[in-house]
Amino acid sequence: DNFYDIVIIGGGPIGLACGIEAQQAGLSYVILEKGCLVNSLYNYPQTMTFFSTSEKLEIGGVPFISDNPKPRRSEALEYYRRVTLKFALNVRLFEEVQQVEKHEDQFHVQTSKATYTASHVIVSTGFYDLPALMNVPGEDLPHVTHYYQDPHYYALQKVVVVGASNSSVDAALETYRKGAQVTMVVRAPEIGRRVKYWVRPDIENRIQEGSIKAYFNSSITAIRPGEVDILTPEGPLTLPNDFVLALTGYKPNFDLLRKFGVHLSADDKLYPQHNPETMETNQEGLYLAGVVCGGMDTHLWFIENSREHAPKIIQHILAKHGE
Ligand code: FAD
Repeated sequence: DNFYDIVIIGGGPIGLACGIEAQQAGLSYVILEKGCLVNSLYNYPQTMTFFSTSEKLEIGGVPFISDNPKPRRSEALEYYRRVTLKFALNVRLFEEVQQVEKHEDQFHVQTSKATYTASHVIVSTGFYDLPALMNVPGEDLPHVTHYYQDPHYYALQKVVVVGASNSSVDAALETYRKGAQVTMVVRAPEIGRRVKYWVRPDIENRIQEGSIKAYFNSSITAIRPGEVDILTPEGPLTLPNDFVLALTGYKPNFDLLRKFGVHLSADDKLYPQHNPETMETNQEGLYLAGVVCGGMDTHLWFIENSREHAPKIIQHILAKHGE
């Protein structure tokens, strides 16, 4: 009785969109999610505001109503939960997929709780589980984190923020406004080019007036309790420090993709091989959806441009059924 037309791995926005499409096409499916519903969004910074307007985050044609031009994380959690309930999606939470193997025409999916058999598998596992590490001594100390949650925690503390992408800039501004003494350590010569255009002047002005200290063309070289070493163009420096927010990006779980039999490109992008028209990988019957498709280019796909993967995949599966 654990047989489905489709097993969907990951209960993020795109996994849910795939479930809705499958249901509407009359296919049996189960969505397996290792954490809570929309686990990645749940783990975003608590005060996070999306860069997309709400209608671009919609799935299943359900209006996302928000009176903010750009919705907040809490509204998105509410939205995706309500959509899940409305469609009564078949989601199993806190169940991690550990292996997918193909025997003849069937996929065998092993999770932390059960085994499933399916004719098709959709991998929509996102990219937020694994941080891109700096690989410096002390990175694993308890005062170092790759996941920033809430600014109050850092009040009156000396905080080093590593990186200058959206996550780093938001964390630097928020903790500064809650009374942290913030230093940014940025490998590049400037604030990231993809930083939201309405946030950029705020961070640039704070740096210029000296409220936030920024070292550009610089990198962190070691972290110890109470201090960090950084390398700047003027030479090495040691700064007193209480917390390090290493917001250096995230990456898809490539080991899992390899275990599932998906080929990755030989360059450093590690693009998982798939047909962009159908989203089918080199493994016939195994599909990719959402941000996982971009390999190391994690900014390529987001909700607004990858929700269309869901109808593409279901149409391809239906066309195959009709053969
Ligand atoms: P995810 O939402 O990451 O979902 C993947 C799910 O798979 C997760 O819930 C994970 O727990 C689960 N999973 C992983 N491995 C397993 C496993 N082995 N077994 C079972 N489950 C598993 N995008 C936008 O479109 N607009 C924005 O404004 C926006 N803002 C962002 C802000 C931040 C701070 C970040 C980090 C990202 C933002 N993004 C935004 C990108 C957005 O997160 C992704 O576009 C979106 O989450 C992609 O959805 P997804 O379903 O592909 O992946």
